[in-house]
Amino acid sequence: MKLIHQFISVINPFIRKQISLSSLQFRLTLELVLLSILGLSSVAFWAGWQLSQNLIIAHKGTLEYISARFPEQVELYSEMGSIEVGLNRSVYKASTDGVMVWVKRNDGMLLVNSPGMDMQSTKITQMISLTKVPTYPSLIYISDRYLVICARTLTIKNNLVGTVYFSKDITLEKNQLNHSIRSLIWVSILVILLLMLAIASRIRHALRPLQQMSQVASTLSAEDLKAAKLELHQAPDEILGLAQTFNQMLLRLSDSWEQQRQFVGNVSHELRTPLTVVLGYLQSLLRRGTNFSDYQKQALETAIGETERTIRMLEDLLNLARADSGNLHFAVNPVVLNTLVAEVAAMSQNVSNRQIILISNDQQVVACADQNRLQQVLINLVDNAIKYSSPEQPVELKLEKTEKQAIIHICDRGIGISLAHQNRIFERFYRVDESMTRSRDGTGLGLAIAKSLIEGMEGHITLRSKPGEGSIFTIILPLWNP
Ligand code: ADP
Repeated sequence: MKLIHQFISVINPFIRKQISLSSLQFRLTLELVLLSILGLSSVAFWAGWQLSQNLIIAHKGTLEYISARFPEQVELYSEMGSIEVGLNRSVYKASTDGVMVWVKRNDGMLLVNSPGMDMQSTKITQMISLTKVPTYPSLIYISDRYLVICARTLTIKNNLVGTVYFSKDITLEKNQLNHSIRSLIWVSILVILLLMLAIASRIRHALRPLQQMSQVASTLSAEDLKAAKLELHQAPDEILGLAQTFNQMLLRLSDSWEQQRQFVGNVSHELRTPLTVVLGYLQSLLRRGTNFSDYQKQALETAIGETERTIRMLEDLLNLARADSGNLHFAVNPVVLNTLVAEVAAMSQNVSNRQIILISNDQQVVACADQNRLQQVLINLVDNAIKYSSPEQPVELKLEKTEKQAIIHICDRGIGISLAHQNRIFERFYRVDESMTRSRDGTGLGLAIAKSLIEGMEGHITLRSKPGEGSIFTIILPLWNP
């Protein structure tokens, strides 16, 4: 039972995760299992063959000895009487231990044979007489029986008596040996299965740190580079070394990311002041100029529009830089979300001429939040919902509350965002690289700011979306608890 459980636990990852056939885990397991099958089956085969050879060689040796001494013995016993007596005695003496001996004259007549040669044995004798019997003891297989046999020409005192045959039936021993070999094969199969389990589980265990590494790397984003660290305790030295290098690389990445952020913050700060001055001059030029042609006026308006957009972007970047360094301050107070969400809906509806539906039950929802910043986030999300859906589709704002949380859903039935982009959508400057969104105005900073502001208010923001069906951005904030 325990074995079955272990087996299931080992093959489970293969079934559940459908481990790729080209994965290191699969290949190593397969190679080692094949090698152990090869190794064990060779040992089993060799051991079986060796045992069988030993058995045959031992019996051949006995028969060789008996057959070599037989003429000598006949001669010895013949001295006490006739050759027949000598033959009978010698055959009787040689027929111990299952050895059958019989002597035939050259004309085929049986002169003498071992006592107790039954019918079956006689049948064998006849069969043997049909085949050419070798002089040196050999193993033959006749009528389901294994026999070691040999034959010698018998010459006594220079007289040719005939041929003496020796045979030993080793079927029983051979069958016992075959039975042992079969048991050996079963034991080998069992050992191979156990080895397979042990190898698969060992390899899975050994490769776990690599899986951990890949998990850390796959979930890593620029935001959590600083906190990301691979903690391995019971890994081999090589993997520990790799993990250490991986952690050092994360540290370097985090440092350079930090420098890049600081650089962006500094540049934004340095650019904002001169750009504000440029905007002031452009606006006053447009206000005071009286003799501008239409083309000049349009050029000035475009320049003002672009400068305003750039200043807004620089302000967003500065806010992000402040949030990163913890210098963005929040005036967290009780905020009646019913009012705030209704205001945002009305404002966006006026500006965009799009239907904004507010869905809430009558209960009042008061959250802990910075009203202005929350309003900024809501406007941004509603603006996106309008931007990325077709004009006839309404945008819905749903207000809910649970025991401890206030929840606002901003839902649209627009183009949606694929799963691959959803993981990165809150990163700075990240925009879905599709012509449908590229053509729309934007910087790719809105969602990054929304995330950083909401998290600054101890809340969080999530996204559920399906391409072609729409998106739902959800803001969760702590409820006000007086
Ligand atoms: P942008 O200024 O480009 O709108 P955001 O950070 O607000 O920047 O959004 C980043 C990207 O996320 C957008 O470029 C767009 O591809 C995608 N996106 C945001 N909101 C939606 C939405 N409601 N529906 C589909 N895509 C959206």
